[in-house]
Amino acid sequence: MLVVEDERTLAASVRYNLERDGYEVLEAADGLTALVAAERDHPDLIVLDLMLPGMDGLEVCRRVRTHSNVPVLMLTARADETDRVVGLEVGADDYLTKPFGMRELIARVRALLRRSGMAATPPPPADRLESGDLVVDLGRGEASRGGRSLRLKPKEFDLLAHFVRNPGRVLSRTQILDAVWGHDFFGDERTVDVHVRWLREKIEPEPPQPVRIVTVRGRGYRFDA
Ligand code: CA
Repeated sequence: MLVVEDERTLAASVRYNLERDGYEVLEAADGLTALVAAERDHPDLIVLDLMLPGMDGLEVCRRVRTHSNVPVLMLTARADETDRVVGLEVGADDYLTKPFGMRELIARVRALLRRSGMAATPPPPADRLESGDLVVDLGRGEASRGGRSLRLKPKEFDLLAHFVRNPGRVLSRTQILDAVWGHDFFGDERTVDVHVRWLREKIEPEPPQPVRIVTVRGRGYRFDA
């Protein structure tokens, strides 16, 4: 969450209360810094003071709106400014008139996040992944390549499923052991290597030059979807 406010005491108080409510808070004391932070850190909400040195809150809000739908809670000093602020012209989602109570602030923040969370609910995790000619159906526990069912042993399937759920991430042998074999498995890391070799025989176009389950030297393996 990004808090843009040039009054230090107020900024500190807002930050304190948001953090106490469990939010991670970044601060900016002027408009330009705010814009940079909004683009770089992708906050899930911006608390934005209207009166800022240099670029004011209206302009910051307008510019943020050109590339983001992040909820904006505007802080204003005068009630008569609010029509402009929440109008279509600027695009703030809500406002608070100073002075405001911290409970009110938290209530507004929660409501905005709830609304944006509902609007941006991510699709349910796919239980069927396709990668080239490879199809892994996590729900049915089946995998096929080029339309032909792969006869995977249970641990091979579990290992493949773990890779498929973590595409592009380097997974260490220890992480893989923990995730696929469980913490109480006392085998060593060669177990992982052996199963990776077996899996490669079944899913790689050319097992000696793997392109799906790639070895990352000194670190582990990475599945490239
Ligand atoms: Ca101010």
